[in-house]
Amino acid sequence: AAKNAGKNQITAFDPALRHAHLERTRLLTGLRRALAHGEFTLNYQPVVDLVSGDIRAVEALLRWNPTGSRPVPPDVFIPVAEESGLIVPIGTWVLEQACADARRWYERHGVSVTVNVSGRQLREPDFAETVLDILARHGLPEQALVLEITESMLLATTPAETARIIAALATLREHGVRVALDDFGTGYSSLSYLRTLPVDILKIDKSFAAPAGHADHHQMRAFTKAILELSSSLRLDTIVEGVESQEQAALLQRMGCPLVQGYLFSPPAPARQIDGLLTITPWQDAA
Ligand code: C2E
Ligand code: MG
Ligand code: MG
Ligand code: MG
Repeated sequence: AAKNAGKNQITAFDPALRHAHLERTRLLTGLRRALAHGEFTLNYQPVVDLVSGDIRAVEALLRWNPTGSRPVPPDVFIPVAEESGLIVPIGTWVLEQACADARRWYERHGVSVTVNVSGRQLREPDFAETVLDILARHGLPEQALVLEITESMLLATTPAETARIIAALATLREHGVRVALDDFGTGYSSLSYLRTLPVDILKIDKSFAAPAGHADHHQMRAFTKAILELSSSLRLDTIVEGVESQEQAALLQRMGCPLVQGYLFSPPAPARQIDGLLTITPWQDAA
């Protein structure tokens, strides 16, 4: 009780902390209603083959437009959803919606869909079952789905939880679902996670795509090259995120980087626009 009183005092007297606390409470209240009120949508960002220009996959990115106020960015609401556990039902909605949209893209264009999942979701005992069930209900083959995980999801887990997450990923991979390690290179021990986690794809974080003229440009280039080599010797697919300029794209192509994602090719866009992109692009006619 004394401890709680102390905490409350800090919240009451430190204006910044108090503001943060109120903000979090407000977000949480909004998030609790968001699913029922249909306030979530998904945007999709193409993953592009640098050589052919083909769209190989699209990444589902969650958007929240609370009724009567401005959109809240995922970097703001996802952490609150994770802390509160709301990410579990929200994440299930994301998987359902992404699989529903992806079916036509996979059937007509062989394009797979990648979905970000939180550690909190993976720790649910029935996670693998839930994913396989959603795929079956939407008639989407397991090969069409990629799950994106981050190394940070293992930071606060017990060894038993880590084992459960790895088991769930292994089950899904046995069924053909692929796993991508997102934001690779930003954690403290990326290499040890790479040894621990069963993955198929490495996504090199956008901070490594530093544009020419950027202070760290040369160093970033060396890192990117090293990660690309590591990835290919481990027989993993690699995607570089955050490609914004022709210059970056040309450089990555010279480094032998096969797949990229970024504003240069397309920002995350509503499903309708992805339909359009897939039908108008010339390589579809050639195929
Ligand atoms: P992420 O998975 O690493 O997604 C890539 C982020 O980079 C997206 O931000 C995307 O809009 C942004 N991006 C794409 N191209 C460029 C570029 O050329 N330059 C720059 N500077 N940024 C680019 P977004 O949509 O704001 O999402 C932020 C993060 O929120 C995601 O990072 C992911 O960690 C999380 N997130 C988004 N949707 C979901 C979801 O459905 N579930 C979970 N658990 N997390 C999600
Ligand atoms: Mg991602
Ligand atoms: Mg990323
Ligand atoms: Mg991320």
